[in-house]
Amino acid sequence: MPLQNDFFLALMGLCFGSFLAALASRLPAGVPVTGRSHCPNCQAQLGFTELIPVLSFVLLRGRCKHCGARISPAYPTLELATAVIVPAFLHRYGMGAEGALNLIIAFHFVVLAGSDWLYGILPDRILASLSCFTLLLKLLSGHKAFWSGLAGGLLGFSFLYAVILLRPDAIGAGDVKMAGVVGLYMGASRVFPALGLSFVLAAAYALPLLALGKKKPHDVLPLGVFLSAGSLIVSLAQLPQLSAILLDLGG
Ligand SMILES: [Zn+2]
Repeated sequence: MPLQNDFFLALMGLCFGSFLAALASRLPAGVPVTGRSHCPNCQAQLGFTELIPVLSFVLLRGRCKHCGARISPAYPTLELATAVIVPAFLHRYGMGAEGALNLIIAFHFVVLAGSDWLYGILPDRILASLSCFTLLLKLLSGHKAFWSGLAGGLLGFSFLYAVILLRPDAIGAGDVKMAGVVGLYMGASRVFPALGLSFVLAAAYALPLLALGKKKPHDVLPLGVFLSAGSLIVSLAQLPQLSAILLDLGG
């Protein structure tokens, strides 16, 4: 794909990202998805110049123009992430049905990450919708991918279920459900690379904050953000040797 097409796809991704960030901020709060955007603090209706992806955040220095309240860096982060996701996923999976489904699944991960970041919630209806699209992808990918997905889902769910039994305060029930969906998407061969990377990313975020005293050991970590990031990265990564070895082992 020529470079100018990637640039165009990245711009499209920025706009999609802005919409996904709005979903992440509205769905858990019970705010209707349609309608104009408002500042969550002062309720002022946002104008066109306050709605430009990333740029508005930078120009307003991360604060509301009307009341000065801090705007979460989640918004520009989700927008930038989606700007990378759209061209990267289309390169990886193509423009056909597989590419479209993988992109829709990636968008679900963006909304889940945003929702967990902003509210510490992984909404059931987004997890359910993600499960449906993932199941559809597995059904279209053949019986091997389907059974590998079911096994991966069981492994991911059981693994985090064991964690929550051992350390009930460490993670939430939403994280356990999400790990099941991550496993379904990743399949048996890639569920642990995805979960492993998620935990490494979570530790890379939390340990410096703990060391600096900005977080306490019992503070809740938005694990959904890292589960999303880990899943998206492993989905994009080509792991031919590892997956071939594990698929051979798994028959
Ligand atoms: Zn405001």
